Amino acid sequence: IVWTKEDGWQQPELLPYGPIQMDPASSVLHYGQEVFEGLKAYRREDGSIVTFRPDENAKRLNDSARRLALPEIPVELFVAAVRELVAADAEWVPRGADQTLYLRPFMIADESFLGVRSAERARFMVIASPAGPYFSGGVKPVSIWLSQQYARAGRGGTGAAKCGGNYAASLLPQNEAAAQGCQQVLFTDSATPDTIDELGGMNLFLVRADGTLLTPQLNGNILEGITRKSLIELARDRGMAVEERELTVSEWRAGVADGSITEAFACGTAAVITPIGQLKATDFTIDFGAAAPGPTTLALREELTGIQFGTRADTHGWLDLVVKG
Ligand code: PMP
Repeated sequence: IVWTKEDGWQQPELLPYGPIQMDPASSVLHYGQEVFEGLKAYRREDGSIVTFRPDENAKRLNDSARRLALPEIPVELFVAAVRELVAADAEWVPRGADQTLYLRPFMIADESFLGVRSAERARFMVIASPAGPYFSGGVKPVSIWLSQQYARAGRGGTGAAKCGGNYAASLLPQNEAAAQGCQQVLFTDSATPDTIDELGGMNLFLVRADGTLLTPQLNGNILEGITRKSLIELARDRGMAVEERELTVSEWRAGVADGSITEAFACGTAAVITPIGQLKATDFTIDFGAAAPGPTTLALREELTGIQFGTRADTHGWLDLVVKG
């Protein structure tokens, strides 16, 4: 769908997957004026296909778009585009645990000029790809690397937006994590480096021995994960306490050492809920060993995937039915 300042959003089109034409002076190529989303379509036992909270993705895309000086797209238009693509690609929605069709809605500035200003023409597209588990090995615990040299976001920056530039900044630290044998990188706050923000592509939760969930508050630097938001609601439904507040690496280390923090997990659309088995840094390692995955991590994972795949009741009305079974 194309947007221009004069005419707004034009008629959507469903096209076969293939290359797109772009002018070499298109502003997105030079100034990174781009935002995106990630969500999944799930096939349930009865053959029906659903997506999970697509309206939340639409709202977040618009929050990101505002920060990147891009136009907002009506939520209904976003949701209709996702529905139309999923329905057209229904045969590509796989069956089976952890098997999904990953959907990537994105918006790019697409006006040709070389001066630095926001574009007056944009395009919104959605592409899809079948996906298996993000980390091989299912719910096997992952190791994460504490990035002490690089920050993902700074105060007043674009950390809370889902824009390509944030990921460009996280690629080198992610490579550094891989070189350390870790699957993900943990970012802390650039101004107060003990303060935990999030992982390269996931939010972080810690579980206290008394069952309380701890997660960094939305501080303007981290992405408001839809999985994070949903888990907070599911945990509260179960009577669990959830604290959204500043969390530090020191508190995590001390809590593991004295037994008051018993589990840690990463969450996101791609990672679902993945237990953290180890946090590595240049000068220390926290090891959850045989304690990962812990019972709270597994119970929340079961609850969330149960709703998505239709084995648990969708009491919050989070599913959008796209294809009937
Ligand atoms: N943080 C970052 C940096 C991410 O890329 C993602 C994935 N979108 C998340 C958190 C988790 O967000 P969600 O639960 O909406 O997938």
